[in-house]
Amino acid sequence: MPAIADRLNSVSVSASVEMTQKARDLAAQGIRVIGLSTGEPDFPTPDNAIEAAHAAALAGDTKYPPTDGTPALRAAIQRKFKRDNNLDYDISQILTAGGGKQIIFNAIMATVNPGDEVVIPSPSWISYADIVRFAGGIPVPVACPQENGFKLRAEDLDAAITPKTKWLILNFPNNPTGAACSRAEMAAIAEVMLRHPHVWIMTDDMYEHLVYDDFEFCTIAEVEPRLYDRTLTVNGVSKAYAMTGWRLGFCGGPADLVKAMSNVNTQNAGGVATVTQAAAVAVLDGPQDLLKERAAIYRDRRDYVQARLDAIEGISCHKPEGAFYLFPNISALIGRTTAGGRRIETDRDFVLALIEEQQVVTVHGAAYGMSPFFRLSYATSMERLVEGCDRIEAFCAGLK
Ligand code: PLP
Repeated sequence: MPAIADRLNSVSVSASVEMTQKARDLAAQGIRVIGLSTGEPDFPTPDNAIEAAHAAALAGDTKYPPTDGTPALRAAIQRKFKRDNNLDYDISQILTAGGGKQIIFNAIMATVNPGDEVVIPSPSWISYADIVRFAGGIPVPVACPQENGFKLRAEDLDAAITPKTKWLILNFPNNPTGAACSRAEMAAIAEVMLRHPHVWIMTDDMYEHLVYDDFEFCTIAEVEPRLYDRTLTVNGVSKAYAMTGWRLGFCGGPADLVKAMSNVNTQNAGGVATVTQAAAVAVLDGPQDLLKERAAIYRDRRDYVQARLDAIEGISCHKPEGAFYLFPNISALIGRTTAGGRRIETDRDFVLALIEEQQVVTVHGAAYGMSPFFRLSYATSMERLVEGCDRIEAFCAGLK
């Protein structure tokens, strides 16, 4: 068979996809599985998005879109950045693509040369490191320890930056920990970045609207305007508006960078589906009440699951500010043996045994760069969360 390109050797299969597949296999055998591994809202896409997409299709808006996004959508994104983040972007500084993931991919492809380093606070979303390696770059993880609420410490960031650093990627609220940064914490990060003018800053604000208990989200270009010229502010409709399947991400950033990203976009996508763009205008410009309503539901779920898990002997579960994930620490369970006779040496062993013996699907911390932990998504019904907690409790009670 003709060979596959070498660059793919460095790209891994997403662990959450692997675990989700295991859940599907069990479900196909008729077994009731509690899936807590997928990072997508369980809510429906708002009606106004669906109606706008339908109307656009009926009106014949079905031809090739402008690669960077329709003028209507880019204007709606411009208003969003002003309204939510107090950031002013000219239309030429705004770009859309097929999901936040593609925005990030395009940014890295447009800027990273082989050997360039990208600083990634860890644990982190799996794709950052893979995309960096895809471009020939070197991911540089910086540990954000549990004792610091899984947040990035200024001194650790400073120590990680070298003359080869091209980017810092921020993601608070964070996948997988849910940690978010206060204004003061973000200012401390910004202070470090002011001292390193050769580094771009990408802030992945995908979970912006998922913060709880009056916590106020902030983004770095707003907190420190002197970093505006070096910051790419990334966002999307997947998590906020429950539109994961529509595939729309967007960004605002320096015009030259956005232009270069647009060039990448031209050759790997050619624009986002026209009906998706119409739907996104509707949600970005429409009533925003659902964001708070849904956040209140997520908060109740977080409170419930965090308290249940933290009460289990051997588990320490930090209560994060946002997103829809918990990242419990299971270091006290390493070395034990399950009721089914499986020895737990790693967090992967824990997650696999939990699937086999209680049919609860989560993802191991190692997949996000920090062990021994597991990631649990509470973007599912309370009924399932209660059952999931019962099963995890039973699993842990059986450990010897
Ligand atoms: N960034 C983070 C931190 C995510 O968790 C995800 C999805 O899981 C994405 C980006 C990608 O989002 P999108 O659906 O817009 O590609």
